[in-house]
Parts: sequence; C-alpha cells; structure tokens
Amino acid sequence: MLNLVLFGPPGAGKGTQSNRLIDKFNLVHLSTGDILRGEIIAGTNLGMEAKAIMDRGDLVSDEIVIAMISAKLDNNPNANGFIFDGFPRTTAQATALDDLLEEKRTSISAMLSLKVEDEELIKRLLARGEDSGRADDQNKDIITNRINEYNNKTAPLKEFYAAQNKLSEIEGAGSIEDIALKLNSVIDSI
Ligand code: ADP
Repeated sequence: MLNLVLFGPPGAGKGTQSNRLIDKFNLVHLSTGDILRGEIIAGTNLGMEAKAIMDRGDLVSDEIVIAMISAKLDNNPNANGFIFDGFPRTTAQATALDDLLEEKRTSISAMLSLKVEDEELIKRLLARGEDSGRADDQNKDIITNRINEYNNKTAPLKEFYAAQNKLSEIEGAGSIEDIALKLNSVIDSI
C-alpha cells in the first residue's frame, strides 16, 4: 500500500496536491478538515461541537479526529492506499495512526511536507476565504491562530517522521504543476 501524509501549514496547498495524487496513484483521500466540515453541514452533534472550535482556529480534540480516521480506514478495506491531509496534527494523532495502520498490517510510506512562508500563507487563505466563504479563512487573527497552532503542535511531527526516515520537505511556493512534479518524483523514489 502507498500511504502518504501530506503535511504543511494551513494554505500550503495540501488539498490541491491531494486531488492530483489521488487520481495519479488511485488513493483514498482522507481530509479531517473536509470530514469535519461535512459533519457541520449535516448538523450532527459532532459537527456542532467542532464548529465553534474550528471557527476560532483551534484544534479539535484528538479523540474526535482519531475516531473519525479509524472509521474511514475501516470503511475502505480494499484501498490501494491513503492520503492523509490535515491529519495527523499532534503527536497523539501520529502515534494513534501508526497503531491503526499496524492493525491493518500496513504503515506510512512517506511524509511529504510542503514549506511556504507565513506571508504567502496569509495571502492565499484570505483569497480562499473570499471564494469559499470559509469563516476561518476570512479573518487575519483566526488565520494567525491557525498558523500558531501549526507551529506549536503540528510542525514538531516532522521530527516524528524524520526519526522513522520518512520525511521529505518540498518547496511549496511556485506553480501547482511544478510542485506536483516534485511530489511525484519523491513518491517515485519510495
Ligand atoms: P487548513 O489546513 O487549511 O487549516 P483544514 O481543513 O485541514 O484546513 O482544517 C480546518 C480546521 O479543522 C482546523 O483549523 C481545525 O480546527 C480542524 N481540524 C482539521 N483536522 C484536524 C486534526 N487532525 N486535529 C484537530 N483539528 C483538526
């Protein structure tokens, strides 16, 4: 199986690049942000609980997102592999993911980490906020909080995967096509 963690700060381009990779490598895309927004639209209890947290730009609890990912893995027993987008975001999530994959006798193949400067991230997210209407993309303070959450709780996961020899860092500025080519060449070398 090919199991990829697509990593990087909010606005790094994880969703865009995931969509290309799922087609090319026939993978199942698991975006915790997308799943949570789906729960909000469906008006579930989980969605209502998550909405206030997401609107502030804070992280939803590990327990909730780990349970969501566990269910999605169980629902896709015949997948060729998975792209994890926006997950894991904490060490507890990364450890839980390793355990869940081990139960299925598989593991993470690589972490692909996109690097983008803060100023560029803020510009991209504010532009996305205008198009998508996402509340957490429309306010600079909330965006800054998300970037801080990333730096404090999520960025340290690069060390977690580096210790397993699985980290590749990729420059995330440039054209979508160029970044896709760089990602493809890293995946081809796995
Ligand atoms: P982005 O990466 O652009 O911030 P996402 O769609 O991945 O956007 O996430 C949006 C919000 O959903 C996050 O700010 C957070 O509140 C919540 N969220 C998504 N994934 C996780 C996760 N793995 N752990 C905790 N919270 C999450």
